[in-house]
Amino acid sequence: MLRHMFLFLSKNKTLTKFAKAYGTRLGARRFVAGDTIESAVQTVKRLNRSGLCATIDYLGEYAASEKEANQVAEECKKAIQAIAEHQLDSELSLKLTSIGLDLSEELALSHLHAILSAAKQYGIAVTIDMEDYSHYEQTLAIYRQCKQEFEMLGTVIQAYLYRAAEDIRHMRDLKPILRLVKGAYKESAAVAFPDKKGTDLHFQSLIKLQLLSGNYTAVATHDDDIITFTKQLVAEHHIPASQFEFQMLYGIRPERQKELAKEGYRMRVYVPYGTDWFSYFMRRIAERPANAAFVLKGILKK
Ligand SMILES: Cc1cc2nc3c(=O)[nH]c(=O)nc-3n(C[C@H](O)[C@H](O)[C@H](O)COP(=O)(O)OP(=O)(O)OC[C@H]3O[C@@H](n4cnc5c(N)ncnc54)[C@H](O)[C@@H]3O)c2cc1C
Repeated sequence: MLRHMFLFLSKNKTLTKFAKAYGTRLGARRFVAGDTIESAVQTVKRLNRSGLCATIDYLGEYAASEKEANQVAEECKKAIQAIAEHQLDSELSLKLTSIGLDLSEELALSHLHAILSAAKQYGIAVTIDMEDYSHYEQTLAIYRQCKQEFEMLGTVIQAYLYRAAEDIRHMRDLKPILRLVKGAYKESAAVAFPDKKGTDLHFQSLIKLQLLSGNYTAVATHDDDIITFTKQLVAEHHIPASQFEFQMLYGIRPERQKELAKEGYRMRVYVPYGTDWFSYFMRRIAERPANAAFVLKGILKK
């Protein structure tokens, strides 16, 4: 019930505009590095010093004009420059709708190409985040189109989708680099498991499928049961540490992140920054309504 309400709010354009103007206050700072690339650089430096690697994400989705899409693409290139200049142990993550996918596929593709060329120059990996189901097939098609030219390109598969295993199998020829997640959007029961149990079991089978096919796998979750399952699977099948990693979101279970790194696992933290934080933040609260307490604390501090 609460989950649905926060997912509904995450799509509210008026609130998103208000939040942009207000800055990363209202408690969002717990999950967002700050408004600028400089804040993301400082955060990643701190994480790197603790043995954690990162993926930087300039917040934004559903660009409504070409100008907006161009600005996000410029910011992504700026982030690539910053990663290279500061020698950060970090990749870049991006959303195709933030660089114009809803306006025209050509626009998004041309921006993506420019960003990937800049990343390739410095040997920086890029992951295309997966958005709501209406963009799913287009995102996979673009991934297929770009993966051959840009070897260090990854994308995301959501375990709540019934079709996920079939899509992983179809991608095998590409040797895909996949981040596996449960899925963060509100989807219909016609395409996605409506319950946690169904999603969790499917998540485990996808991890097995991707890992045993020999392709690089990022298991992105805060769920200890899934983490334990992955640890057992890699031990049982002698999967080398170079073939997988764990990922978590900035601000969620930071101590667990450090523990996993200390245990010798590659642990990557997703570090978002920018002013367009509202939708991202609402999805985090939808996952764990207890996080709403941070919003209230943020407001009360003002
Ligand atoms: C790096 C990364 C990238 C992602 N990229 C995408 C993407 O591209 N597309 C997409 O749709 N989704 C993405 N997601 C979000 C993902 O789909 C889930 O919505 C999100 O990760 C929550 O699911 P979970 O696996 O952590 O499990 P949940 O079922 O939400 O949580 C499982 C358990 O984890 C523990 N837990 C969770 N949060 C906390 C907390 N704050 N404190 C303590 N324990 C906690 C609890 O024990 C909880 O029961 C990404 C997630 C990560 C980590």
